[in-house]
Amino acid sequence: MKMSENKFNGKQSREELDVYDTVIIGGGPAGLSAAVYAKRAELDFIVVEKEHGISGQIAESECVDNYLGLYGENGYELGEKFKSHAEALGVEFHVGELTEIIPENNIYKLLVSDKELYSKTVIYAAGAVHRKLNVKGEAEFTGKGVSYCAICDGAFYRDATVAVIGGGDTALSEAVYLSGISDKVYLVHRRNEFRANKALQERVRSKDNITVLLNASVEEITGGETVEELIITQNGEKKTLKTEGIFIAVGTVPESAALRGIAQLTPNGYVAAGENCTTTANGVFAAGDVRTKFLRQAITAAADGANAVYSVEKYLADLEVRG
Ligand code: NAP
Repeated sequence: MKMSENKFNGKQSREELDVYDTVIIGGGPAGLSAAVYAKRAELDFIVVEKEHGISGQIAESECVDNYLGLYGENGYELGEKFKSHAEALGVEFHVGELTEIIPENNIYKLLVSDKELYSKTVIYAAGAVHRKLNVKGEAEFTGKGVSYCAICDGAFYRDATVAVIGGGDTALSEAVYLSGISDKVYLVHRRNEFRANKALQERVRSKDNITVLLNASVEEITGGETVEELIITQNGEKKTLKTEGIFIAVGTVPESAALRGIAQLTPNGYVAAGENCTTTANGVFAAGDVRTKFLRQAITAAADGANAVYSVEKYLADLEVRG
């Protein structure tokens, strides 16, 4: 849809700007599901993603066995399926990083790398990024033995000793995955119980080459050119673990910076939004891991994508009624 320039304070007088019905930020399960629903709703839209071909965090799962109908699917392949579904419907993608969202005359201007996009609504599905441990040596050895993705980097540690840090689903899945590649896997968790699901805990227990270290916090990562040691404190006692690889899986933090000052965020940085994905900013809808929600899974993110588009349709219909 075109909108006359004079509505934009004469910035490009007499020219017309392309104003999308919606711009979808993010190419993970939430963004791609929104894209499929937006096509069906015949909206004029584009999907903005940082890197084409990477379908968000799902690509880092070795095995997704809880997505209905796709039992035992590899995460990367599942992400590929999501993407090819959107591509088959002719969804338009733009690769670039969103740096700012600027409300302007009842629409939004989005600064995306080398491009400005204008849209009546935004479906913000930017997901989350890996949380850092913030210990000495972590930054220095990232890419030199420290990794945040076992599926991506595990193969470099064949027959080696590695350590996984964390006690959630990701940490335990990574430990199980690495136990099939590496000689020995330390699983280091700060509390005395895991938050990961029981089935995963059972799988960890069944692996002879996984050593679980509970009540253990990471103090430092040391080495030369690459990682050599992980220094931990367990029950007040300092210990040094010889290891070549350290996989940090201590959760994620929402990628919500672009909405700061525009929509309400929780103290942890999640975008405040309910099941209909409506945020405190008119016309901005948050979907997937970035929003406040009960359960962060690929399937709940995909559901959000559908809900967000439905909310966009209702919002656009209201705009039309109001003229
Ligand atoms: P998570 O559930 O938030 O778990 C993070 C883990 O890291 C927790 O055990 C936490 O310890 C620990 N941790 C956090 N900050 C730490 C720090 N500074 N130092 C040491 N340890 C720290 O994150 P996740 O495992 O990445 O999972 C994220 C979401 O994805 C969850 O909803 C999960 O269910 C889902 N997921 C699902 C699957 C699957 O179903 N196949 C696979 C992967 C992820 P505490 O326990 O002490 O808080």
